Amino acid sequence: MTETLQSRLSVADKAHCWHPFTPVADWEASDPLIIQSGHGVYLFDIAGNRYFDGTSSLWCAALGHRHPRLDAALIDQIGQMGHSTFLGMTHPKAIQLAQRLAEITPKGLDRVFYSDNGATAVEIALKMAFQYHVQKSSPEPQRTRFLGLTGAYHGDTLGDVSIGGVSHFHSLFKPLLFETLRAPAPHCYRCPLGLTQPQCALACLKEATDLIDQHAETLAAVVVEPIVQGASGMITQPEGWLKGLADHCRKRNVLLILDEVAVGFGRTGTMFACEQEAVSPDFICLAKGLTGGYMPMAATVTTNTIYNAFRGDPSNPKTFYHGHTFTGNPLGSAVALAVLDTFENDHILENVNRQAKRISERFDRDLKGRRFIGEIRQRGLMIGVDLVQDRATRLEFQAHLKPSAKMCLIARRKGLLIRPLGHNVTFLPPLISTDQEIDDMLDIFIESYLEMENTIAAELTP
Ligand SMILES: *Cc1c(COP(=O)(O)O)cnc(C)c1O
Repeated sequence: MTETLQSRLSVADKAHCWHPFTPVADWEASDPLIIQSGHGVYLFDIAGNRYFDGTSSLWCAALGHRHPRLDAALIDQIGQMGHSTFLGMTHPKAIQLAQRLAEITPKGLDRVFYSDNGATAVEIALKMAFQYHVQKSSPEPQRTRFLGLTGAYHGDTLGDVSIGGVSHFHSLFKPLLFETLRAPAPHCYRCPLGLTQPQCALACLKEATDLIDQHAETLAAVVVEPIVQGASGMITQPEGWLKGLADHCRKRNVLLILDEVAVGFGRTGTMFACEQEAVSPDFICLAKGLTGGYMPMAATVTTNTIYNAFRGDPSNPKTFYHGHTFTGNPLGSAVALAVLDTFENDHILENVNRQAKRISERFDRDLKGRRFIGEIRQRGLMIGVDLVQDRATRLEFQAHLKPSAKMCLIARRKGLLIRPLGHNVTFLPPLISTDQEIDDMLDIFIESYLEMENTIAAELTP
């Protein structure tokens, strides 16, 4: 019965659905996982198999599935209304949420502009930054350029792709993109400058600040993912890098846009990642964890200095002509408020740090030093394990060996959903995971690694 429903759905999917970031031929040859329900840290497929959600449903179901407080907030809001526009009108939940976001984001970030996904949250910051320079009291309309990092991922609109630096996603669209200045992202395991920490004295930061100096007159803003670059493989920034960059932006009157779409809402151990470097940007972009993955919702939070430059008079209104139909959606706002309540009442950040320690201790004991383990990068519950063909020389795997994809497939068979990102295996468990749940996930993670190690070792033996 389920067997036939499952195969009918699979056929219909392959006939009509188009999946994001998914090579068509691979998908058509695959046995698609059809997820039907979730509970806590678990997802269940249509055949009733249970899996640990080891990516928090692509980094956003931070509080797990069917959280009682989130469910209740959503149901309560549905009892009132599903949607009402935020254009020229307002409503209680979005007002309350803006107030709460202003309270918990770094000092000075007091003004919230809503949209519905991470890409738009960043796109909005880019447009606002440019328009701010045009309209501020001593206008600088020549500030039309942006600086981004190598390996950056900010979403898939053309503005975000212009700032982005993941070449195999972005290079095809080059003819459509605006030119962006690019600084090397700090990446200590594979230093772009061939240096070693701490003797390097953050030479990569100097590359970025030199670029800012050279283009100080024409730069509108610098855009970075703070503390961890997610999509390029959980690349972690050394201490002091972000602070140094932020101070330099300030000195040169260049705005700083922090994309906390992935790292925000507790993922790296603090509510917002930039708190770890005591940095307060001009814009912080939030999405993924904002509603715990329940509703598509995002926020671009900025300062009143920025906002006040959009305050014109009737002859020159200076309006921000940008909006989305679902801006400030009440269901999203209601569930986001419940997410914030949960962080406070259930001490989520304490749990993140407790489980982060548990994972790093176990990885130190059982994974570090294994044949194909390159670097294990971790900030809080944002973890990427780099697999390398030769640990001593850090030699990258030949592409056809696909160690990370193989390991993730083995883990799926054993009941843990994790995802490959190049030769990196990413592990972002829900922030509510208990000791026992983390231990069970780690058992599967390590067993899957060992099985993959055996398989690939055999393939490498001539
Ligand atoms: C996921 C992500 C985005 C894009 O968010 P969407 O909701 O998928 O558009 C932007 N920036 C970062 C850092 C992300 O991880």
